[in-house]
Amino acid sequence: MVAKVIVFRLGHRKERDKRISTHVALVARAFGASGVIYSGEKDEVMEKSIMDVVERWGGPFFISYERNWKRWLKAFNGVKVHLTMYGMPFQQRMNRIREEASSRKLCVVVGSEKVPSELYRLADYNIAIGNQPHSEVGALVVFLYELFDRNLKEEFERAKLKILPQERGKKVVKLEEKTE
Ligand code: SAM
Repeated sequence: MVAKVIVFRLGHRKERDKRISTHVALVARAFGASGVIYSGEKDEVMEKSIMDVVERWGGPFFISYERNWKRWLKAFNGVKVHLTMYGMPFQQRMNRIREEASSRKLCVVVGSEKVPSELYRLADYNIAIGNQPHSEVGALVVFLYELFDRNLKEEFERAKLKILPQERGKKVVKLEEKTE
């Protein structure tokens, strides 16, 4: 079993990255991470949109801002994985990473436009999801899916809404609030 996973989104730019950083956070939540930390420009609108999703669809999940990504990552006491197209194929490293993450926290870092070169040295693993350029969202989905052994997170606490899967159409039920 994998312990706690945190996603670090580097270099958020409020205007240019508002959709993609939101998608990084939504993927992080849906695919089993505990929260997302981001650096770059602080963006309260994005934070609120993520917490609105958590409020309706459940958690636990956090989003927080960190101005100094390097200091934070150096101090992080766990496995540090950087997703980059220049890294080692995930198929060759995933078993080892999963094993290490069973007893230690794991932080997975995704970049935006330009990734600082120091990150390659700071990371324990530089991992590629194929050695072709694509997207932080796509890379994160595959990484988390493989890390959790292809199990999707199914239980979200304090959800107000839940989907009842349908062959066609949409069915969403409102969940009762538990009273102590
Ligand atoms: N040119 C940038 C650089 O300096 O690495 C990459 C920009 S890319 C649009 C944004 C992020 O997507 C990267 O920092 C990386 O985290 C992720 N990414 C893109 N392609 C990837 C791949 N093949 N494997 C792993 N991560 C990838």
